[in-house]
Amino acid sequence: MYDLLIKKAYAYNIGKNKDIAIHNGKIVEIREGIPETAAREVIQANGNLVAPGFVDCHMHFDKVFSLGEKDSKTLDAAIEEFYSYCNNIKEGEWKTDIKRRAKEAARFAVQSGTTSLRTHVNIEPNTDLQGIEAMNELKNELKDYVDIKITSLPSFYDEPEAQAKRLDLLEYACKNGLLDFLGGALNIHDNWEDLTEKIFAIAVRNKLPLDFHVNESDNPDIRHFEQIADLTIKYGYEGRVSCGHVTALNAVDNETAARVIGKAKKADLNIITLPSCNLYLMGRGDKQPIRRGVTRIREFLEAGVNISYASDNIRDPFRPIGNGDMLEEGLLTAQVAQMVTKSELETVFRMGTLNPAKALQLQDYGLAVGKNADLVIFDSDIVSDALISQATRRYIIKKGKIVAKNTKTTDIVF
Ligand SMILES: [Zn+2]
Repeated sequence: MYDLLIKKAYAYNIGKNKDIAIHNGKIVEIREGIPETAAREVIQANGNLVAPGFVDCHMHFDKVFSLGEKDSKTLDAAIEEFYSYCNNIKEGEWKTDIKRRAKEAARFAVQSGTTSLRTHVNIEPNTDLQGIEAMNELKNELKDYVDIKITSLPSFYDEPEAQAKRLDLLEYACKNGLLDFLGGALNIHDNWEDLTEKIFAIAVRNKLPLDFHVNESDNPDIRHFEQIADLTIKYGYEGRVSCGHVTALNAVDNETAARVIGKAKKADLNIITLPSCNLYLMGRGDKQPIRRGVTRIREFLEAGVNISYASDNIRDPFRPIGNGDMLEEGLLTAQVAQMVTKSELETVFRMGTLNPAKALQLQDYGLAVGKNADLVIFDSDIVSDALISQATRRYIIKKGKIVAKNTKTTDIVF
């Protein structure tokens, strides 16, 4: 007897009229005509889309819902505003504060169909590993509802001696299993080249993959992106390194961009575009035309580079709006990238599901027998319509269990 049976699904990348049987958290059978009596619980998909859950591969769970009074408008101002939020938290309350806000964000993510996510967590001189520890506690608390992967986002605004202490802290966090990825927004610091070398070395020593913020700027400088591609190849880390933002790629000439995108392909980098946040923060110095601040999505796709979109920030100084909803972010990405034909929308959908699953190295992900039953049942039958209509996600299933349901009712008089 199966635990759960989904009847008459439009199974993502498989086809119509499929029944999906789930047992012990795994997909055990996908075919037509599995009898309803074969399972303890049956959900009728009524011909609608059933797809693997969204994978939100770049979030900031320690920053969510920290919006103050100010309207930040630039990346530098947002960083400053977040520090002023942190400084107002009472001594000893940092972990509780992060967990409270992060749990709310996790509820936003799960109810909109995210089944796995990756969050950056700041490491500051005054908080050390408190944020990382809080996130590990939450990761464990929520493990039956959503997979949370943790990446470090250390600050290096201080002197070399203090920086060295933070690097030791990172090494300690790796050795104690507190991190799934190592990262940082290193190019905002003067000694970014040296810091990047050091972070790479820690990752290699501890056999951890990497996830960087890279060249999130309007300036025509993509040396950091190039350095990461070079180091990835040098250390044989192909496929294990993510690069978020890379907005500066817009500011360089086409020839330079093509050369560096070729290098990214060779290094098998995982690119993450964050349109919602960068539309808000980039191009602030422009009068008209105002640049979009979004990386070269089409060129990466054409070069065969694994590119995903993600939601980045939720109602904090870096983006005062946002719902952590990957279907909403998908439609925004499609509009910004001017990719709205049926097949282009299918590509965008992949950028929120299969592509980020590859970036996160999720081995048990996908709609196939033997994979984790992390699924979303939509109220649309095809991917493009799910994006266009912002379909209701009727059921969100994590490891074979229903973790969220949504309904939509409309009364109209004509
Ligand atoms: Zn970010």
